[in-house]
Parts: sequence; structure tokens; C-alpha cells
Amino acid sequence: MKRKIVFATNNSHKLHEIRRIIGDKIDILSLADIDCHEELPETSDTIAGNARQKARYVKEHYGYDCFADDTGLCVEALGGAPGIYTARYAGDNHDSEANMNLLLKNLEGKDDRRAYFLTVIALAEGDEIRIFEGRVDGMIAREKSGMGGFGYDPVFIPENETVTFAEMDEDDKNSISHRGRATAKLLDYIGVENK
Ligand code: IMP
Repeated sequence: MKRKIVFATNNSHKLHEIRRIIGDKIDILSLADIDCHEELPETSDTIAGNARQKARYVKEHYGYDCFADDTGLCVEALGGAPGIYTARYAGDNHDSEANMNLLLKNLEGKDDRRAYFLTVIALAEGDEIRIFEGRVDGMIAREKSGMGGFGYDPVFIPENETVTFAEMDEDDKNSISHRGRATAKLLDYIGVENK
């Protein structure tokens, strides 16, 4: 029988991405697929802690092997902020435009624009939790550019590039991005070739 693994998300973009990579080798189930409609605990003060919490919760309460991801944008000149608050930097409504505006405002007049995205994927299988990390370093631009991607993409310029993530082709972004790198490590571990 085909192996089933839950991806602790209902984000259709992320599900589509991972299912496309994995093909039909493994059944990737969403939270909705296992009738999990509750909010998963995410109360840790680290990105890795939050990923672990979500994966462990699904494994313990629903019995499925499960992986969960968590991502943060860490800006050097802001002491690592927004970090675990990346999604709700400008408030609880997770508004990307407002988040970017606040970030640009907080960096006004600052020459140190260094920042990185970190994704941690936690895989809970059996009694164990394994961690896979992906990081991309770069700079926060002085203004937004580009229409692609999502979140902070219009203000993030990855190192060795001159354009923002939002100006890059989707596959080019995925090949160097924090989530792309963490996902590649997960797939390598579970034995799926990353196309
Ligand atoms: P999550 O943990 O994947 O939900 O990500 C937390 C927040 O980080 C999101 O709300 C986005 O604003 C931001 N984020 C995550 N990945 C990316 C990315 O690839 N580009 C830009 N922003 C991102």
C-alpha cells in the first residue's frame, strides 16, 4: 500500500508544490483530508520549535506520520526581527503589504540591509522528530519590485542576484529558496527524487 504522510497545512499553494514534486509515490494528505479543522499549537519562541509542535500534535492526536513547516524572515539590523512574527509583523490579519511597509519603515535610513529566510520542516514519524532546515541569505531592498511570488518576495533580493524574489521565475526562486532547500532535504530523507 502507498505510504501516507500528512503535511500539516491547508495552504493550497504549498500542497500543490509538494504533490507535484512527489508525484504518485506517496499520498500527501492535508489537514482537511484527515478531518483536522482545529488550529494547531504554535506557541514556541523559535521557528524550529513551532514546526516541531505542529508535526508532533498531528502525530499524537491523529496517528499519521506528519511533517510541518515554519518560516521566518530575520533582519540583521532589527536584531533578527520579525523572526517568529514574520506572518503577523504588522498585525494579526497577515497582510503582506502592511508587513512589507512596516519593514521598509523600520529600515529607513539603515545601510545594513542583510536578512535571511529560514524554513524549518519537522517530520514526526514513529516516536521520532527529524528536522530539515533551509536558509537563503540576501538583502532587503529599499522599495518593492516585482509581481510574482507572495509574502515579502517584492522586498527580498537573494545573494548573488540583482532582482527580488518577486521578479524571478518561480522555478528559479524555488531552486535557491529557503523552502526549496528544506524540502529537498526532506525528500532526500524519505527517498523521493527531487525533480
Ligand atoms: P509560513 O510559516 O510558511 O506560513 O510563513 C510565514 C510568513 O513568512 C508568511 O506569512 C510569509 O509572509 C513569509 N514567507 C514565507 N515564505 C516566504 C517566501 O518564500 N517569500 C516571501 N515571504 C515568505
